[in-house]
Amino acid sequence: MNPPIVFPHVSRRRFLGQVSAAGALALAPRSLFSAEPPARKLGVALVGLGSYSTGQLGPALKLTQNCRLAGVVTGSRDKGLKWAKDFGFPETSIYGYETMARLADNKDIDIVYVVTPNALHKDHVIAAAKAGKHVITEKPMANSVADCDAMIAACKKAGVKLSVGYRLHFDPFHEELRRLARTSEFGPFTKMSGGFAFIMDRPQWRAEKKLAGGGPLMDLGVYVLQETLMATGEVPPVAITAHELPKKRPDFFVDVEESLMWTMEFANGAKCEGYTSYNDNRNDFRAEAAGGWYEVSPAFSYRGISAKTSRGPVVATGLPSQQALQIDAFAQCVRDNLPSIVPGEMGRRDMVMVEAIYASAAAGGKRVEVKV
Ligand code: NAD
Repeated sequence: MNPPIVFPHVSRRRFLGQVSAAGALALAPRSLFSAEPPARKLGVALVGLGSYSTGQLGPALKLTQNCRLAGVVTGSRDKGLKWAKDFGFPETSIYGYETMARLADNKDIDIVYVVTPNALHKDHVIAAAKAGKHVITEKPMANSVADCDAMIAACKKAGVKLSVGYRLHFDPFHEELRRLARTSEFGPFTKMSGGFAFIMDRPQWRAEKKLAGGGPLMDLGVYVLQETLMATGEVPPVAITAHELPKKRPDFFVDVEESLMWTMEFANGAKCEGYTSYNDNRNDFRAEAAGGWYEVSPAFSYRGISAKTSRGPVVATGLPSQQALQIDAFAQCVRDNLPSIVPGEMGRRDMVMVEAIYASAAAGGKRVEVKV
């Protein structure tokens, strides 16, 4: 049996929760941790100004209390100039991918947030660590466990923290699942299922093995794996079996899977049926225990998440941005020298499961033991 990795949990201080008379759980996330505003906001540099940085992380960095956007790393100087004007940082804090080493000289930048295609995370994280910066890397952490190991080692060597952009750990609806797992109020969740899928309609790097490392499992399936381990209290499975489904659009999904399904087995007999696809629509997770159940759908979106338990709906009010909470939490960890609740080791653990799923699917559904 694999020993569970113990990750620190999100403090309930961040979610002012109470059970209403109707039995609905009311969760009001507050922005964040300390009542006192920080003396100095830490500086964050985004690496890669694509759709996630532009649509989510940039706006989130206007809401954060512990940190602010202080620089960018981009292949386009023009884009960098626009961001500098919008966020009020100097042009000297615009870097190219090949000049990341110069971040070492920039005292305004404490944290580097890597938001490039998956295959590039490793080199960008290592460059940031060598420049002495704490790092957040987007999910999936990398294209292989070996790359995750190299990233973790580089950050350890440089004495900097490494975290993964697992935003759902900072979402109150998912925090309720984590709380139920922690308190075992319903007993252990033994029957779980979840799926995340969307229909990919235009060519992009996400469907290219070289840059994405795989298909929907790397991009979407990782959320189902994350959620499953929230339900088990971060206890990883002992084995996985997986099947790739026949491609309906083989010309589009040339060297990556189109759809995958898998079963995770846990030491206590629990099971989870997972599914992911780039040619379907799913966005849900359900966990059942002897004493009750938890269900979330839509489950993995930025907004509009809806969850209920056998006791009633989970009601969250005053919802802030998941990304703002996530980045602020990491800035707080850096400032107070605390461990991240979504560390590099968690990203590596998830890549171990991803590799087991691919190995099983490649072997026609053979049962593959998971050794985190
Ligand atoms: P995107 O394609 O919109 O942006 C990628 C950026 O990387 C672009 O600015 C591009 O110019 C740059 N880049 C640098 N080198 C490149 C190269 N060799 N090839 C292609 N692009 C290169 O992608 P995105 O949607 O912003 O995703 C970036 C990362 O963020 C991915 O790892 C993805 O999984 C992750 N992501 C996470 C979430 C989340 O909810 N946590 C959501 C979306 C994306």
